[in-house]
Amino acid sequence: MPATDAAPIAGFAETVVRWQRTSGRHGLPWQGTCDPYRIWLSEIMLQQTQVATVVDYYQRFLARFPDLRALAQASQDEVMPYWAGLGYYARARNLHRCAREICERLDGEFPRRAEDIAQLPGIGRSTAAAIAAFAYGERAPIMDGNVKRVFTRYFGIYGNPAARAVEQQLWHTAQAAIDAADAGLDMGAYTQGLMDLGAGCCTRGVPACAQCPLAAGCYARLNSRQHELPAPKPRKQAGERQCAMLVLEQDGRVLLEQRPSRGIWGGLWCLPQYEDAQAMRAACGSRGIDCGPAQRMVPFSHTFTHFKLHIEPWLLRGTAPGLQEPAPGQAWVPVGELAGAALPAPVKKLLGGLYPADSLI
Ligand code: SF4
Repeated sequence: MPATDAAPIAGFAETVVRWQRTSGRHGLPWQGTCDPYRIWLSEIMLQQTQVATVVDYYQRFLARFPDLRALAQASQDEVMPYWAGLGYYARARNLHRCAREICERLDGEFPRRAEDIAQLPGIGRSTAAAIAAFAYGERAPIMDGNVKRVFTRYFGIYGNPAARAVEQQLWHTAQAAIDAADAGLDMGAYTQGLMDLGAGCCTRGVPACAQCPLAAGCYARLNSRQHELPAPKPRKQAGERQCAMLVLEQDGRVLLEQRPSRGIWGGLWCLPQYEDAQAMRAACGSRGIDCGPAQRMVPFSHTFTHFKLHIEPWLLRGTAPGLQEPAPGQAWVPVGELAGAALPAPVKKLLGGLYPADSLI
């Protein structure tokens, strides 16, 4: 099926703005501000995460780190508990690095142009454009996953949207849609409108075309092609991995160890993790810990973007004299303080099943 340029581009942006004002999302905690710090924080949290999940995290984070300087002055260990459970932890590490860089290199002034914002750590072209549009009204196009769906369907753009040539076509079309709009285009409402359309109307699966303000000119609707756009990515076989995790409890404390800053759960506190139960017994034995009395708990799985991790948890209580002194990177954490530790979601879930609910968030 060839791509088509039949869908009208004139009036596209104005239609989105009109619809956003009457039917888009309003009253979200990060709306109604021009503070680039707050906008940036919300944009990073909203990557790969639903609005409903982000609201509480956003408010808690801002209560603790109300501005760029407060974030830059904190240590990474202070920041991570406010991200624990949101996933994609590189986002939090980059956020922190970025705050420091702005304070050190730019004297605390957030850059104003999308092009400059995109040079900062962890901020891609689309996020940079969203910040510049919301904070400064710059006529910079966004192109996240939701917006790609709207554009591929409305303009009839075929091919894998992650492929370079198709992505370039999408960016080019997004810029053309802005260039075709009035000089007074409300970039905040337009950008928000595209996000709202992708999240609530032009959804995956069966889109709500009957409610869509773009329906009259939409290629996919007019040609009944919604199901084949955007074109699916070539399938990758999702990997499967397994591990054993040990809950080592002694004197009302649990042994945790900090993950390296790169890789899954980077910088978060985890339970000691091993390839399997045999590796766990060998590693514990080498430190004088007898895993014989350890109890096997109910196994469970956690799904990452590229693989599924099957976790076999073990519980060992009060028989770890060899571990009075934790190794570097490990710490005994009192059960009552686990709620304040930056734990990944599956570890939190596991410990939440063992200890009173109010000791964990
Ligand atoms: S008419 Fe349907 S397919 Fe086209 S942009 Fe709107 S919701 Fe998406």
